[in-house]
This record gives sequence, structure tokens and C-alpha cells, in this order.
Amino acid sequence: MAAKDFYQVLGVPDSASQDDIKKAYRRLAKQYHPDANPNNPSAGERFKEISEAHGVLSDADKRKQYDQMRRLGAFDGMARQRAGGARSGAATGGAQGGGAEGLEFGDFGGLGDIFSSIFGRGGRREEPSAETLEAVVEVPFRIAALGGKIPVAIPVSDPCPTCAGSGGAPGATWSTCPECDGRGTISFGQGGFAVNRPCPQCRGRGRIPSQPCPTCRGAGEVRTERRVVITVPPATDTGSRIRLRGQGGAGQSGAPSGDIVVTFQVQPDRFFRREGLDIICEVPINVAQAALGTRLRVRTVDGKKVMLRIPAGTQPGRKFRIKGQGIEKNGRRGDQLVAVQVTLPERLTEEQQDLLKRFAEAAGMQY
Ligand SMILES: [Zn+2]
Ligand SMILES: [Zn+2]
Repeated sequence: MAAKDFYQVLGVPDSASQDDIKKAYRRLAKQYHPDANPNNPSAGERFKEISEAHGVLSDADKRKQYDQMRRLGAFDGMARQRAGGARSGAATGGAQGGGAEGLEFGDFGGLGDIFSSIFGRGGRREEPSAETLEAVVEVPFRIAALGGKIPVAIPVSDPCPTCAGSGGAPGATWSTCPECDGRGTISFGQGGFAVNRPCPQCRGRGRIPSQPCPTCRGAGEVRTERRVVITVPPATDTGSRIRLRGQGGAGQSGAPSGDIVVTFQVQPDRFFRREGLDIICEVPINVAQAALGTRLRVRTVDGKKVMLRIPAGTQPGRKFRIKGQGIEKNGRRGDQLVAVQVTLPERLTEEQQDLLKRFAEAAGMQY
């Protein structure tokens, strides 16, 4: 459980404000609350994750410590180690299988201190093999509802062109790293688990150059953008995830590229909103239309216009159902619900005033 990425669980970027975190939590907690999902046992699990993530990220101190550990890759490092040291596809995103389930965030504070004391000396995380990247991608409402493709630029690290990933300046000489004696990793044990981390001094290489590469300052990699076109499945919700295989950071020394795990965040629409598979919208009509009845042309989510008959005597807030114009998922398709808002004129011409007065008199009303 603890190996989950909390930002990913809440579907927010790691720069999210406290307000964004609170909002995301409220929305997801409502969606996955066990009471709202009596027939879906996995919703309870998800609900627990969401609560755990919120518990840490909503607390400024805990969040700071968590961010620190997250930057050091503590979570995917543990997950990978439990999985037997192999670089599994589940390195960052899906630690459900081989996750560090023994580690809970109850004793989070102490662990954070341990990590910062061992890795907090400016040694940046360096992965010897390909990296699984996380990205939060915003999707327009309509594409999330119907599915489609969107182009995105995802920050990735590629091997540095100057040093070809070695981290040494051209012509530098190399010596064995004194910190790890050339092993490239250091390990420590704490409370029943041992963690192997790439050596921070040599960045896992086991050797140190006489002079670091001037382009990447010894990191061996440069940050660039990878432009990819992402296929968004229909009925995508905020928090839904997909994995793009082989599109992540380039592996060093010819290792295959890692994956990109994309978490979607659905942008709100000005006209439409979603409730499950149904699409909800509001349409204003005036008093005369409500009283006498009318016909409205209503936009649907796939861009068509549908004629909707409003009967005489329609009351404010009444909902009309347009069958089959909602979102389709697993062969089921929702409906579009049109809520009618009856608006009153703010200003009347003299003629309109006379007519309304005559209406009031005919109805036997004072005005
Ligand atoms: Zn070293
Ligand atoms: Zn370089």
C-alpha cells in the first residue's frame, strides 16, 4: 500500500495546492465511498488508498517528508527490491503485486529522517536502467467522454549527448568510487527490511570521473520533452490511468526504454457535466415557453443537435431525458438529462408590461 504514489492516487500533479488536493479528495471519496458502491468491493480498497493519500498530502509536514522520499525514489526502489530486484513493469505505477506492504505511513516520520540522512547530501537519484515516468494529463471533457487522441509533451530524461550518459567530461580519467568501493549501490537495513540504493556519490556507476561532464554536470542525462499522441479511452474519469509501454526514459547502455504511466484529469465543460454514464446539462427557457410549451434544439456531447419538446406547464428544474445520448462503456450507454431553468425577464417593454398586467387580471391576481 505504501508504495503507491499518493499524487497519482488523487490524480493531481505534485505541484497541486492544498485546495486542489482537498477538492480531488472530496470528489474521489464521494465517488469511491463504500456506501455508494455496495456491489463493487474494489471501491473500498480505492477508498482506503484515497484516504491514506489525503492523510499525508493534506498535512504540510508529512507532505514535505513524503515529497523528499518520493524524489529519492524510495517508493519504486522498495517495490522493485521486493519484486526480486528485476526492473518490473510495475516499478512505479502498479506496486499492488510486489509492493512494500510491510511499510505503513504510521511510522512515516522516522523513515523520512533515515532517508534524508543517508541520501540528503545532494546525491541525485540515478537509475541505471530505463525509467517509468509518471505524467498527469489534462483531457478536455468531450474527449474524455467519447474517447479520442490528444498530443502531449512529457518531460523525460535522455542520455546526455556530450558524454553519452557516462557523466564524465570528454577525456576524463576514471577511478573506483570510494563511497561504495565500486559496487554502485549502498544498502542499509531498518526494521526488518533492507534497501539497496544507487550510490549517491558515483550515481550507481561505481566509478568517478576526474572531471564531470560540463553539459549534464555529471548526471549523464538531459531533460527533454517527449511528444506523444495519447489515445484516451471512452468514458475516461479523472484518476483513470493508462500505461504507454516503451515510451518513457531511454534505458542506458542500450537497455529498453521505460514506460509512461499517464493519469488523466478531466477538464470541466461549460455546458456539460457527468454523472456516471449520464450527461447533465441545463437549458434556460423563458416564462412564456414554460407556460405555453416549446421546442428546443439541445446540443449533445457528440456534437449533434436533438429536438426536445417542452410541454405546456413545465416547471423550473424539470429534467428531460434524451435516451442514448450519454457515455458508452462496456456496451451500456447512458442518457442525456436536460434540466430546464425558467428565467424571468429583468426588464419589460411597455407593451410586455401591459400584456402581463392583462394576464394577472385574467388570472384574478393582484400586482
Ligand atoms: Zn559509489
Ligand atoms: Zn554529460
